[in-house]
Amino acid sequence: MSWFIKKRQQKTAVEAKTVRVPEGLWIKCDNCRELIYRAELVNTNNVCPKCGYHFRIGVEERLANLVDEGWIRLFSELRSADPLNFVASKAYVDQLKKLEDAGQTEDAVVIVEGTVSGHPVVMGVMNFDFLAASMGSVVGEKLKLGAERALAKKCAYIIVSCSGGARMQEGTLSLMQMAKVSAALAKLDKAGLPYFSILTDPTTGGVSASYAMLGDLNIAEPKALIGFAGPRVIEQTIKQSLPEGFQRSEFLLAHGMVDKVVSRDQLKEFVASCLAWMLPTGA
Ligand SMILES: [Zn+2]
Repeated sequence: MSWFIKKRQQKTAVEAKTVRVPEGLWIKCDNCRELIYRAELVNTNNVCPKCGYHFRIGVEERLANLVDEGWIRLFSELRSADPLNFVASKAYVDQLKKLEDAGQTEDAVVIVEGTVSGHPVVMGVMNFDFLAASMGSVVGEKLKLGAERALAKKCAYIIVSCSGGARMQEGTLSLMQMAKVSAALAKLDKAGLPYFSILTDPTTGGVSASYAMLGDLNIAEPKALIGFAGPRVIEQTIKQSLPEGFQRSEFLLAHGMVDKVVSRDQLKEFVASCLAWMLPTGA
């Protein structure tokens, strides 16, 4: 990289403002700050080849990574209402309309039915691009319907979580989703059907306080931020500094909060092997 840095330094300040790394060709790793050729990331499942940092990925990439081809989407027609007529810096209805216009039509979770290495599953994948994958009524309802679908099909249920937490714009209704989804998961448990929670960066707030931690298996991607409140809030509350690596996957594994940390390139194989021994007869 030294030649590159040298060349950059030779440019005048004016030039430096106009010459940028072409967007979409190179990307800077959030962890090690190295420049990575974007095409390389496609081959590594969006994992930094230099340090192993797992970039956040979208729903489509996640499905391609985990589910066999041929999945079908479920419950896509659900839309958020605005029961509180919520207005902060922006009106909630305007935020929703803007997202819908931009093609984000499925709120913050996509539910699919398909197979993982041949094992039938219903899977929910949260979408961080939709209001930080906050847990509104539609998220809760779709995840509940997903659980009921898995129950009807007698197959496993998997939720890939990432979330900033509750959806403030829906107030208490958002918090009620924690109970609703948890109750639906309890039905799967009673029926002896497995539920896997896959926690990705970041899984926080009400999501981490409910269904993301209720898996028969809680599987985390490496170095994912997983916690309820942010570290600063906790430090101020308990008036102590927090240990190194606090609220990261590896820390949670060491303290018994997750069952396994699995890198993205191993994730599908790991899930399939667990499904094979948990539901040996398939559907
Ligand atoms: Zn890196």
